[in-house]
Amino acid sequence: MDYKASENIQDLQYFGEFGGVNPSISDSSTYTFLSAKTMFDTFEGNTEGCYLYSRHSSPSNLYLGEALAQLEGTESANVYASGMGAISAVIMQLCNANEHIVCSRTIYGGTYAFLKNFLKKFNISTSFVDITNLETVEMSITSNTKMIYCEAVSNPLLEVADITSLSKLAKKYGIPLVVDNTFSPLNINAAKLGADIVVHSLTKFINGSSDCVAGAVCASTEFCLSLKDVNDGAGMLLGSTLDSLRAASILKNMRTLHIRIKKHSENAHYLASAFKNDGLKVVYPGLDNHPGHKIMKNQMNPEYGFGGLMTLDVGSLENANALMELMQKEKLGYLAVSLGFYKTLFSAPGTSTSSEIPMEEQEELGLSHGLIRFSIGLDNDIHKTYLTMRSCMEKLNILPKTILLA
Ligand SMILES: *Cc1c(COP(=O)(O)O)cnc(C)c1O
Repeated sequence: MDYKASENIQDLQYFGEFGGVNPSISDSSTYTFLSAKTMFDTFEGNTEGCYLYSRHSSPSNLYLGEALAQLEGTESANVYASGMGAISAVIMQLCNANEHIVCSRTIYGGTYAFLKNFLKKFNISTSFVDITNLETVEMSITSNTKMIYCEAVSNPLLEVADITSLSKLAKKYGIPLVVDNTFSPLNINAAKLGADIVVHSLTKFINGSSDCVAGAVCASTEFCLSLKDVNDGAGMLLGSTLDSLRAASILKNMRTLHIRIKKHSENAHYLASAFKNDGLKVVYPGLDNHPGHKIMKNQMNPEYGFGGLMTLDVGSLENANALMELMQKEKLGYLAVSLGFYKTLFSAPGTSTSSEIPMEEQEELGLSHGLIRFSIGLDNDIHKTYLTMRSCMEKLNILPKTILLA
């Protein structure tokens, strides 16, 4: 893997109008024209570098889009007001009524609800499959299928998609592979591995400060422009436009993404290894007992590690709730959904971010009641964090007996 995403992001230089080291923020929804002809041409999409109206595009949004295109190594990228704004625009752009989608069965709850419930309005159906089983994926493709959709590292079960193989399969059937790379920016370059369209919730690691929601679509210039088309672009017409002020603040945060991702990964790996040694049921793609470990190793950028997410199964929802409340009291982090914050965030996905998935289906997926999802923070002394977490578990009798004897 020799694509240097973070160097390319660092090298993108934009200056403010007075020579500021950050670009000026475009504080306008509309733009003036000296000639009526240029306005018409801009409306038709024929005028490079001219702005018309900020739902279509704005300088700040374009700057952020360029940085995101560098992150994934795609020709272009559009930004949106949320991850769901990006995801729903992509799906609506690619699918007409009565068509079909093949999708991983372990995905973000909002995406699941959009595909399963919302798209019923258009009679668009989705086959939810085990994305790690390529035969099942292939068998689910019909002549009506318009895309394969998955997450590079899935929410919340941390399944790893074999993007190279899925991309070959998608090409064989002439359909795009859409990958949500929210859990693994920089860790995995989904587009370089063959994904045609990469979506992100910028709300999470990429912005990293839990102060706003935003999303992105990284793809070919042709596809990005089609989303912005004034006549039939889903991005343009569904209207989930990111505000320029937010685009500017996210771009500034992106400048430190490489440092943050390395630290999130280092800390998560440390805790996952330690808890595995303690005999706890921990899931982390960096552990060699993880079913996707080999695939992750093959497709990751090693310097960024295996990511900042891990899960721990503590047996029951009662245990999970008690442990999360105690950890919050001990200042280990916050009982909160979302991820990518400097503090560790933990939640029980079955009753929160994946509650859109019916209970029976959750069980089938292996999404057990005692599962806690952790987005590990940027703690400076992770060994101390480990000892405090362990003492919380000890107090609640959650540690396996063998550890207590040791
Ligand atoms: C949070 C999340 C989303 C949705 O993003 P929003 O910014 O909340 O709309 C989509 N996919 C994944 C994997 C997520 O974690």
